[in-house]
Amino acid sequence: KRSPAGFQMRGFATETEAKTGSVVDKHEFQAETRQLLDIVARSLYSDHEVFVRELISNASDALEKFRYTLLSSGEAELAGMDRPLEIRITTDKPQMQLIIQDTGIGMTKEELISNLGTIARSGSKQFLEQMKDSQKGASSEASSNIIGQFGVGFYSAFIVANKVEVYTRAAVSNAPGLRWSTDGSGSYEIEETSDAELGTKIVLHLKTDCREYADEERIKAVIKKYSNFVGSPILLNGKQA
Ligand code: ADP
Ligand code: MG
Repeated sequence: KRSPAGFQMRGFATETEAKTGSVVDKHEFQAETRQLLDIVARSLYSDHEVFVRELISNASDALEKFRYTLLSSGEAELAGMDRPLEIRITTDKPQMQLIIQDTGIGMTKEELISNLGTIARSGSKQFLEQMKDSQKGASSEASSNIIGQFGVGFYSAFIVANKVEVYTRAAVSNAPGLRWSTDGSGSYEIEETSDAELGTKIVLHLKTDCREYADEERIKAVIKKYSNFVGSPILLNGKQA
């Protein structure tokens, strides 16, 4: 599901030297993505917990893709072939964070840009179309219904988080670790990091009124609801969820 070559050039990228000396790439979100993020972040969508389903399903997809690649490609091309294939969820109450990590396929820099910076999924496109149609009313109630109807995938993280970090390392050999981060407004940053393990880790910095998702029992209940369809083990704070 990659964008056509050159598509990412629609947003500008600037390279700045961070204090650490590592290169930080700043990218503008595609206009449609910005619109979607805005709507998701401001909506009063009552069924907050759908974000858990979306992020777990992405983790599960990433693990499936890794398994498939493992079977279909020559072994030599893949790193970390013998790691456990699982989803690790961590709650951090004091820091008001929820962390969802998988040991799946991971993302390269190009994939981060095309998958998380633009809207490729059809559901989200339909969502925006519907929003335009119902814009006359423009109530957050209307947008909420539409969020529920179409789902907004990865972007549903912004229902509960005001900052999202993605640490990822693709399973192709020699792929560097990357950190993608945004506060959900106009732009996001990408930098190389030595902190990323193979696969993808999503760190949600929860909004104050969504701090309940940093509570182990609360998350456990939500996982129970959605995990039936997940083909990989889910660990919650190190224990089988
Ligand atoms: P969808 O899952 O319908 O494609 P999403 O918005 O949920 O749409 O995710 C967008 C894309 O971002 C995915 O298709 C995938 O390429 C990438 N992605 C999201 N989460 C992960 C992850 N945990 N590991 C690898 N890639 C991911
Ligand atoms: Mg998804």
